[in-house]
Amino acid sequence: MTDDALRALPKVELHCHLELTARPALLKELLAAKGRSVSDDEFRRDFLITEPVGDLPTLLNIFLGHRDLLDSAEVVERMTYECCEDMSRNGVRLLELRYAPSFLCDAHDSLKPDAMHAAILQGVERAERDFPLAVGLICLLQRIKSVEENQYWLDFAVEKKADFLAMDLADNELAVGPAPFIPLFEKAKSEGFAVTIHAGEAEGPQAARNIRDSIELLHADRIGHGVRILEDASVLDFVRERGTVLELCPTSNWLSGVCATKEAHPFRTIMEAGIRTTLNTDDPGIMNIDLLDEYRLLRDGMGFVEDEFVQINQWARDASFIPEARKAAVWP
Ligand SMILES: [Zn+2]
Repeated sequence: MTDDALRALPKVELHCHLELTARPALLKELLAAKGRSVSDDEFRRDFLITEPVGDLPTLLNIFLGHRDLLDSAEVVERMTYECCEDMSRNGVRLLELRYAPSFLCDAHDSLKPDAMHAAILQGVERAERDFPLAVGLICLLQRIKSVEENQYWLDFAVEKKADFLAMDLADNELAVGPAPFIPLFEKAKSEGFAVTIHAGEAEGPQAARNIRDSIELLHADRIGHGVRILEDASVLDFVRERGTVLELCPTSNWLSGVCATKEAHPFRTIMEAGIRTTLNTDDPGIMNIDLLDEYRLLRDGMGFVEDEFVQINQWARDASFIPEARKAAVWP
C-alpha cells in the first residue's frame, strides 16, 4: 500500500494516553510563554523519547516535563483537539482516549479535575464537529496510588458515567498485582463500565500471567499491550479461546525494551497465533510518532498488506467500547 492509501484506510485507535499527545509545537509555545528557550537538541533530549531509555529517572523526568507544562484547562482543550485532528488526518474514525484525572491535577493546584474534564469534553466536541470522528474516553486508575485514592477517582468517573466508556489500570504491573484492585473493578463493572487493563508489558516472570489475571480477576474486556503473551502457552490458549483483543503499541514496546528493534516486535507472531491484535500509538506526543508511523512499520518492517490492515481494524472496530450507532455514523 502507498502512504496515501495507508492514510486513507479507515482506522480505529484504541490505546492512546491523552496527556502524552501534545504536539512539539504546543510544548515549545508553552515553554516560550514561561520564558524558557530550548534548542531543538535540548527539546529532543528533555521532552521526547525516541530511543530505548534504560533508566527510570530519565524516563520519569520526560513525563514530568510534559506534565509541568500542561497547566490549564485552555491548554488541555487545545491538546485534546489537536490530538483528534492528528488522528483524523491519518484516517482514524474511531478514537478512544484515556487519561488519569490525577496525573495533571496532582501537579497543578490551579487545574481542578472537573474543569480539566470539561476542557477535554470541549476539545472532543469541537473535533467531532470538524472531523468525521467518534471519540470515547477511558478513565485511568494508577497502580502506584493507594486503593483509597483510586476509589476516589473511580467515584469521579461514576459521577460522570455518561462521559466515560471504560476504566483502565496502568503503571508497574509487576510491583502491584491485581488483587488490591478487585473490588474497584467489580464496582466499575456493576456501574456499567467496560474494562481494559495494562498487562503483559513489563519484563518479569508474571508478565504473561498478568494478562490472564486481568481478565479473570479484573474483568478486562481488552488488554493494554499484552505483548508478552507468547511467554506462556496456556495464557495464549486462554486469550485465543476468549477472543480477547490486545491493544498492541509496537514503538512504545520497543522503547520500553520489549524487543531489540521495532521490526522485531512480535505483532505478526501474536496475530498468527490466533490472537485478535490491534495497532495503537500509546503516547504519540512523547514518542514523536503518529498512528501512520505505526502502520508504516508494519508495512515496511513486517510485510503487512491491505487485507491484514483491514482485518486488524475490523477487530478494533468490534472491540471498541464506543456504542454501535456512533460507530456506524462515522465509519465509511
Ligand atoms: Zn498505555
